[in-house]
Amino acid sequence: MRLGVLGHPVAHSRSPAMQQAALDASGLTGWTYQKVPVPPELFAETVRALPGAGFAGANVTLPHKEAALVLADRATDRARAIGAANTLTFEHGIEADNTDAPGLIAALPESPQGLTALVLGAGGSARAAVWALREAGAEVLVWNRTPERAERLAEDLGARAVQDAPCANLLVHCTAAGLKDEDQFKQLPLRDDDLNRYRCVVDLVYRPDGTALVAEARARAIATVDGLEVLVRQGALSFERWTGRPAPLEVMRSAARNPIPP
Ligand code: NAP
Repeated sequence: MRLGVLGHPVAHSRSPAMQQAALDASGLTGWTYQKVPVPPELFAETVRALPGAGFAGANVTLPHKEAALVLADRATDRARAIGAANTLTFEHGIEADNTDAPGLIAALPESPQGLTALVLGAGGSARAAVWALREAGAEVLVWNRTPERAERLAEDLGARAVQDAPCANLLVHCTAAGLKDEDQFKQLPLRDDDLNRYRCVVDLVYRPDGTALVAEARARAIATVDGLEVLVRQGALSFERWTGRPAPLEVMRSAARNPIPP
């Protein structure tokens, strides 16, 4: 059985190390998980060829998540509501799901029901986060660098667009700020001391040395969830969908956090 992650680029992905460790720890000998680099113009034909090449399923990452939903024969309600899929299963045709949304909720230290959440960003991951938090019973505020996108997202998914960073229980960062070596806070509507407005800070961005947002929140004894934990949780749900086995979370965490250099 083969599994993989389709992206462009995909070289940086920690999913192969994490998923292969999970397959090995679960005794699924003969199962392999690989990188599948594929440009947008070859995405549809590549996906259609995967079942015949022995693939049971695949993860999908940037920039293919919307295209994955479009070409699927069937999709879960959440993938349709979010408008993007990160998990394909090839059991009966091409089935699309989105495990980014439940993965985020699983990563939180408490249920968001009845809480307020400020989501920063209006791209694909913010859409999954807003949908997941609304579905879990939170009131959701959305800020984005380009305000029109925040307004559209908020209208689509029952959230409220904001122009700055008001108080909330949860702060969920879903922009690309902090991915490169720049000052993460300079690109966001809040300063480090403003983090005291939140009791939990989630940063979807992950980088080898961690992000400023998570470091500053930890320095203030605020609960944090980093991007690697969110990655592990969405990956665990994809793993369970493909294999029908419980995901070995600790094994996946360890492999995601300590990738063996190529
Ligand atoms: P996306 O669809 O391309 O959206 C990018 C978002 O970032 C938009 O809201 C964009 O705002 C904003 N942005 C980009 N550069 C910015 C800057 N310099 N300052 C402020 N805002 C900026 O990307 P995505 O899929 O949502 O991913 C966003 C981040 O989450 C990425 O860093 C990705 O690696 C991470 N992520 C992590 C996980 C995980 O499992 N941990 C999963 C998915 C994504 P505009 O609308 O103004 O352009």
